[in-house]
Parts: sequence; structure tokens; C-alpha cells
Amino acid sequence: AGVDLTGRRAIVTGASSGIGVQTAQALAAAGAEVTLAVRDVSAGQRTAEEIGTVTGNRLIRVAPLDLSDQRSVAAFVTAWEGPLHILVNNAGVSATPETRTPEGWELQFATNHLGHFALATGLHRALLAAGRSRVVSLSSIAHVQAPMVFEDVNFRARPYDRLLAYGESKTATALFAVEANRRWAEDGITVNVANPGAVATNLGRHLTEEDYAQLPAFDFKTPEQGAATSVLLATWPRLEGLGGRYFEDCEEAV
Ligand code: NDP
Repeated sequence: AGVDLTGRRAIVTGASSGIGVQTAQALAAAGAEVTLAVRDVSAGQRTAEEIGTVTGNRLIRVAPLDLSDQRSVAAFVTAWEGPLHILVNNAGVSATPETRTPEGWELQFATNHLGHFALATGLHRALLAAGRSRVVSLSSIAHVQAPMVFEDVNFRARPYDRLLAYGESKTATALFAVEANRRWAEDGITVNVANPGAVATNLGRHLTEEDYAQLPAFDFKTPEQGAATSVLLATWPRLEGLGGRYFEDCEEAV
């Protein structure tokens, strides 16, 4: 709160739903020029309108991006012009009845890990051009609390069942972010990982009652609360130059 992002340019991936919308809205409210990187451009335009109305910020743009498709990521990167101050690599996909297959495992890795990786590295030049810039990658409590994932599937399920593939892909997300931070910090690019707990968004709609029965009882946050860590990591002045700080939860960060 209180951060002035006027003149700063931000990208939020997955800004068509849940945490991404709230993150984009908070950055827009602080005055940033925000690009909503979404799969469904017309839905993104509606979101941009809403954010514009709520925040009074008219510098909201929409650009097509399918993170699971490397050609789409490359096209997005090619189309991006000028410096980039904030990249929130937020888009992600979890286990769905349809993705409980080897192909679904690949989809989760392609989106949650390879997509984040390709986008951040593709935009490295733009992040560098900003002078000081921030990347936030959304990992998950499913990475931090890996035992939760393992114990609950008891290793009896096939590895792509339930949340194991999700937890693995999110661990890859986090490891990439930590390594990118190590390499890029001296260039003024701070990379951090946000690991929200359970947030009431579309993500959870794919989990079945059986899944929930195997998981700890979650205290669900609102999407706005879920976005708090991303917004903090994208904007917090105290992070400047610190790099490498790894926040496991919003409460820890503040
Ligand atoms: P939602 O399902 O509400 O939003 C996910 C967003 O990611 C949507 O905008 C979706 O776009 C987008 N997305 C999915 N696949 C792709 C793709 N291939 N290319 C581009 N965009 C894509 O979930 P959340 O808001 O909860 O999730 C945001 C992030 O937070 C995710 O990375 C998630 O893993 C992480 N997270 C969420 C938690 C939770 O409890 N909700 C807990 C911990 C982490 P579309 O609208 O087109 O489907």
C-alpha cells in the first residue's frame, strides 16, 4: 500500500481469473501500466474494462499468451517493446479430472514450469532495460508442504494422480526462480517466489471431494488476500537489492 507505480510497466499472466485479476488490479490501482497476458483475449478485455473502472487507470492492455505453448510465449516476447519493470508469472494449472494422465502431467509442467521459465528468460532484456525490476513466480503451498502431497497420495496413486504432478511442477517453478534470482540480482532484477496457501479461485474447482478428503482442512483466503504476497513482492521497496528472499507466506513477508 502506498507504493506509486506511475510510469512502471507490468505484465500479469493468468490475469483472467482469481489471484491474477486481483494482482493486476492492485498494480493498476498503484498507477502501473498493466498488460493482462491471457489465453482468452475477449475475456481479458472485459477484465481490463472492470479494472479500469475500479481503479480509474486506463493504461490496461491485453495480450494473448498461452504459457503451455512455447510458440505463443515466443510470439508474446517478440511483440513486447520497451522496458519491463514487473513480471508476475501467475498463470498456472492444477490437477483436473482430465489432466490425471501422463499428458496432464506434461501440461502442468509445460505451463507451471516451462512457461514461466520461457517467459522470464525471454523478457530478460526488457527487465534489464528497466534498470530495477521484479519478477514474481507463483509457486504453491503444494511445493512448500511437499509431504502433504506425498503423504496424502501414499505413493499408491499413479504419480500423475491428484496433486503430485502439481507439487512437482511448482517445485520446478520455485527452483527456477531462485536460480534466476541468483544470476540476475546483480543486474538489478529481483526474482521471488510467492507460495499462497489455499485461495478460493477457479483452480480448486477441479479438485474432487475425494481429493479434499485427503488434504488438510484449508482455511481458504479470498483472491484479494491470495494476491497480497505477489503484490508485496512486486512492489516492496525493502526488497530492492536484497534478492533471493524467499517468502513462504504473506504473513512471513509482512
Ligand atoms: P485460477 O484457476 O483462478 O486462475 C489461473 C489462471 O491461469 C487463469 O487466468 C488461467 O487462464 C491461467 N492459465 C492457465 N493455464 C494457462 C496457460 N496455458 N496459458 C496462459 N494462462 C493460463 O487460479 P488461481 O488464481 O488460484 O491461480 C493463480 C496462481 O496461483 C497459479 O499459478 C496457481 O497454481 C497458484 N496457486 C493457487 C492456489 C490456490 O489455492 N488457488 C494456491 C497456491 C498457488 P484461463 O482463464 O484461460 O483458464
